[in-house]
Amino acid sequence: MTVRVRFAPSPTGMFHVGGARSALQNWIYAKQQGGVFVLRIEDTDAARNKPEWTEGILSALDWIGISRGSYEGPYFQSENAGEHRAAATRLYESGRAYYCDCTREDVQARTGSQYQGYDGYHRDRGLGPGPGHALRFRTPDEGVTVVVDLIRGEPTFENKLIEDFVIARGDGSPVFLLANVVDDMTMGITHVIRAEEHLPNTPKQQLLWDALGVKPPVWAHVPVVVNEKRQKLSKRRDKVALEAYRDEGYLAGAMRNYLMLLGWAPSGDREIVPWLVIEDEFRLDEVNPSPAFFDEKKLRAFNGEYIRALPVAEFVEACQPWLTGTGTIAPPPWQPDEFDADAFAAVAPLAQTRIAVLSEIVPNVDFLFLASPMIDEAAWTKTMKDGSGELLDAAVTAFEALESWDAESLKSTLEAVGAERGLKLGKTQAPVRVAVTGRTVGLPLFESLEVLGRERTLTRIRAARLRLP
Ligand code: GLU
Repeated sequence: MTVRVRFAPSPTGMFHVGGARSALQNWIYAKQQGGVFVLRIEDTDAARNKPEWTEGILSALDWIGISRGSYEGPYFQSENAGEHRAAATRLYESGRAYYCDCTREDVQARTGSQYQGYDGYHRDRGLGPGPGHALRFRTPDEGVTVVVDLIRGEPTFENKLIEDFVIARGDGSPVFLLANVVDDMTMGITHVIRAEEHLPNTPKQQLLWDALGVKPPVWAHVPVVVNEKRQKLSKRRDKVALEAYRDEGYLAGAMRNYLMLLGWAPSGDREIVPWLVIEDEFRLDEVNPSPAFFDEKKLRAFNGEYIRALPVAEFVEACQPWLTGTGTIAPPPWQPDEFDADAFAAVAPLAQTRIAVLSEIVPNVDFLFLASPMIDEAAWTKTMKDGSGELLDAAVTAFEALESWDAESLKSTLEAVGAERGLKLGKTQAPVRVAVTGRTVGLPLFESLEVLGRERTLTRIRAARLRLP
């Protein structure tokens, strides 16, 4: 038997990090089993689907390392609509499903209580197809449905507690539960690896597999992803879109390494490991069924490590979208007046050790590429004290006299300027940094001044001086 797994996202919004995790797990599982990984876009919710969401899913998958060619498809659920309807008809004709025109209110009026599921009113009333008649699956009154789950053992559901659920709406269109099963059947799926959120659907779906006469797949419900308050990650509350992380400057390698740690860990207490180790060591049946904490702080730290591990040339390349707006990533609202690749290459190694996400490159180096620095007014007020004007004057004079414009000479010169006033280097360089870069923190100052050059450094210090008493 060839293992066939699938990832089946619905194109109804940004691509969720939990979805990316499931996609990676499916992909690795197929690879390990010598199987096939299928991508199916479940695009039948016409009211919520948008083609751009499908594009977003494909490009986010590509970014995380699942590119076209590494999956079969993409298939589109809508293309299989004929099969969905045929299956509904088969279930009706074999007596496994029946038509019903009850509204929720009808059921409630009959049962006299809160709606607690359908009461089976139309089970044996012989209602035929017609507008407004939904098709319901007749669930068994007895026995249990045992789901074989690689992560959760054998969750068991009592059939009498499963209501006769709708499989096709009043307009004849099949619902998710049925379409999803029929697609898995037609695509020969042997293992369904998906989020825990779908577990309540699974007994119903397995009953459909049985009723349609096909052996159900093996299931694996991977744990729900939660935030630090142990709440399920939600797009209203949390940053869940894979694209948002990409655009902020997370590296795909860091991201996929981190995603695979949700509920699983490689051997030997390691967390940051080469992807090949994950592909080799990951075991679906070792995934912990408990909710997995998506720790953004930890992900950030991971990303910093991945950034530091890049060869400098790759780091320089990776920063380009944030500096020059090239590439597919939406650039932040910042435009260099003039980008200078050599200047950037000169400071890149200093920045590489200091940032955790690539977008942080901007506040670190923007002073190099702007005609005048973007002055952070709060930083200015905090730093410029009595005496700062006089200090800047002295710095200008000393810098003008420098023979060699290099970091070391700049440092010893400014140190001397401070010493004459009884100031430590930290206090001396703060007003110079704000004058030149606009900020209180950043790359090592003297290396920055060396790269910025004599003319621009002096012009900026003089300009700042004019603002001071
Ligand atoms: N389209 C479903 C979803 O996005 C997937 C269902 C499944 O994996 O079986 O939640």
